[in-house]
Order: sequence, then structure tokens, then C-alpha cells
Amino acid sequence: TSSSAALFDIACEHIPGGVNSTARATWSGWSPHPLFVEQGRGSRLTDVDGNTYIDYLLGLGPMILGHRPPAVTRAVVDFIERRGTVFALPTADEAVLAAKIVAAVPSVEQVRLANTGTEAVLYATRLARAFTGRSKIIRFEGMYHGFSDGMYWSKHPSIATAGPDARPVPVPQGPGLPSGVERNLIILPWNDADILADVLAREGDDIAAIITEPVMCNTGCILPQPGYLEAMRALTEKHGVLLIFDEVITGFRLGLGGAQARFGIRPDLSVFAKGLGGGFPVAAVGGRRAVMDLVARGKVSMAGTYTANGIAVAAANAALDELARPGTYERLEAVSTCLRDGLSAIFAKAAIPAYVEGIGALLQVWFSDTPIRNYRDAERHADQDIFRRWWEGMLARGVLFHPGAYENLFISTAHSFEDVEATLAAANDVVSRL
Ligand code: PMP
Repeated sequence: TSSSAALFDIACEHIPGGVNSTARATWSGWSPHPLFVEQGRGSRLTDVDGNTYIDYLLGLGPMILGHRPPAVTRAVVDFIERRGTVFALPTADEAVLAAKIVAAVPSVEQVRLANTGTEAVLYATRLARAFTGRSKIIRFEGMYHGFSDGMYWSKHPSIATAGPDARPVPVPQGPGLPSGVERNLIILPWNDADILADVLAREGDDIAAIITEPVMCNTGCILPQPGYLEAMRALTEKHGVLLIFDEVITGFRLGLGGAQARFGIRPDLSVFAKGLGGGFPVAAVGGRRAVMDLVARGKVSMAGTYTANGIAVAAANAALDELARPGTYERLEAVSTCLRDGLSAIFAKAAIPAYVEGIGALLQVWFSDTPIRNYRDAERHADQDIFRRWWEGMLARGVLFHPGAYENLFISTAHSFEDVEATLAAANDVVSRL
């Protein structure tokens, strides 16, 4: 047995399921045990059994600068050695970081820090409900906005509470969670402006906000249909509904200004995490001054012992400085395009229907003969069985993707063209045997 297998047995004794919740979400269960990580460096990950992988999982996305990015590591070590671990009191660095985020993201006029994407989403919906005095939130099938009771899905939902396929009563999304009704959620299929217009026309006066990923990432990478985000912006303005972009994955990844800069849309509120901390836990919610000002006026509260702690802030300041270096996103784009084009060429020649969708440092292979525009399409058309064989084949050849048919592949600034070449060689081999 491998060391991973042995460690898994030991872990099961004291950790229910043998892995923490994030590792659980990452590990598909396709193998009898997850791989236990020894260390990461740059684009590479090594497990306790001595296997090294080219890593496109990147800790579910935060390691946008690769593993152990020197500038971030130095900033954190320096902070701890010189200043200790400052919690719960302000540091000058916090104001510096806030100014950097405001400068980077077009729609963000003020920003508050948090520890996780989940918390930042919670703050965003709280702000929206307080600002509008309304209670309902529209969200979309197949998106993920964190693990709070108010937003969590135990699985990707295949339900809609409005629109043509609506079910009359929203089903609870798992034991231990309040139902959709209690959570004041309206759940819609994504990439369909007509349904959205319909629901807003009927219920707009009760709706505080729409929350969306600007690029669908939690049902794998799916781009918005041309005009969809624009329609969403126009409709929300018409009905006095706030538009929240959940840029936890897209933020600081599709560019310093996130997806919103790329698509030229200004949401009212935005949520960031993952890439912001270069691997350390830090998140942010930001947006229009008029909305954010509710916090200053004591109308909306935010808290957290570890919020804006010195280590996280030092990491984020260093990560943003690294990302802001000239040429960073051009190079990310070039490496990513090289991988995307290479994979597309391999699948174009293959006997199986598949295509690659991607934007910037995000991409995904869809095993489908039909273009996938939202979660329903994915459920109907994406071939999970072929995906699994593809994933296992790549892992056996030292390439680690997220073991989920509906998950992205992330590219870091540490990935090289040599990594891409090695990945394509492995892909060629695997695809010829699928
Ligand atoms: N929103 C999106 C779009 C996410 O992808 C995630 C995490 N995968 C979250 C929110 C929650 O972030 P966290 O895990 O930091 O709580």
C-alpha cells in the first residue's frame, strides 16, 4: 500500500470521512483514497509517495502565482518575523491593500476584507438586502457561492424556482440546511436573459440582488452568451436590483480587474478571494460607495477575529504586486492559449466528441457533442464516464486536473511552455486510448 493509503486509514480514525471538507470536494472518490500532498513548488505538486504532478488544480484556484511564490513567501515570513501575527487591530498595510484593490477593479469604490469567499458572499448579500430593503436573491443553477446556510448547495442543483421548468416548491438542498423558501432564494438557469426578464417583471420589487459568476466556473468553464451580462446589467438597473459579481475565481485571474474589466460591465458589488491572497486565506467584498457606506454608518455589520490579519494582508499585498508586474497577464494568456489550442487540436482529431472552452488562465474540456451553456446542458450532455477515463489517464502520466467533470483547469504564472508541451504529449497518448 502507498503512504497516501496508510495516511488515509489513520486520518479516518479522527476525521470523519478521512479528509477535510475542501479536500473532500476535491477528491472525487474515484480512487479508494485521496493523494496526500508532500509539497508544492511552482507548477509542481509532489505527493507523499514521491509522485510529482504538473498541477492544474492549484488548490482549487488560489495558487495563481504557483506554489510557494517567492515574493509572497518572503512578505509573509518578513511580516511574522518583524511584526508578529497582528489580529483585530488595523495595520497600515490594510489601507494599502484596499487602495490597490480599488485601483485594480473598475467598479470597486470601497472594499472590506474577509477571510473566505463564503464570508465575502455573505457580506455582499447582507449589504444588498440592507440597501434595497428587499429580501429575495436570484442565483443560478450550478453556481457555487460558498458554504453558508444561506447559499450552500450540497450538490449542484438541478432545480429552478422560476421560469418554464420551475418546480412549485423549492426542495431543501441537503440535510441540515434550511429550504430554498426559508433562504429567500430564486434559482434560475444561467445564460437565459428571457427567463431573467420574466422573473424580474413579476417579482422585481421583492428582489434585492442577483448574484452570478461572470464566467460560470462552478459547472466548469462556461462563457456568458454574447449580450447576456449586458442584459443582466440593464435589467437589474431597471428594477432597482443590485448586481453582485462573484469573482472569487475570475478575480485577479482574468486580469487585474477581473471578468468585469474584461467584459466591460460594472456590477454594484463584487466578491473576491482565491487569487487575491496568492495562497493565503483572504477575501474581499467591494463596490459602490453608496452601498459600502452602510458599513460605515453601522447599518450592516461585518466581523471576524482573523479578518484583515497581518499575515493575510501581507500575502495579498505581495500577490497583487506580483500580478501587477508588466507582462504578467500577457504571459498567462500566452501559456493558457497554447494549452487550449493544443488540447483543441488533439480533440478535433479524436474520435470522441469534445471541445475546449476557456478564457484567460481558465479552461475546461467538455466531453459533449453539444455546446454547453449552463448547468442543465452539462447535466444532459457532458459525458462523465469519458471524463473520468481522461482524468485517470492524465493523472497516471503526472498531470493533475480537478477530478470533476464540471470543474476548471487553472493555469498559474509558474506554468511554463515546457509544462504545456508535457501536458499535450500526455493528452495525445490518453486521448488515443479513450
Ligand atoms: N464563490 C465562488 C465562485 C467559488 O468558486 C467559491 C469557492 N470555490 C466560493 C465562492 C467560496 O469561497 P471559499 O471557499 O473561500 O469560502
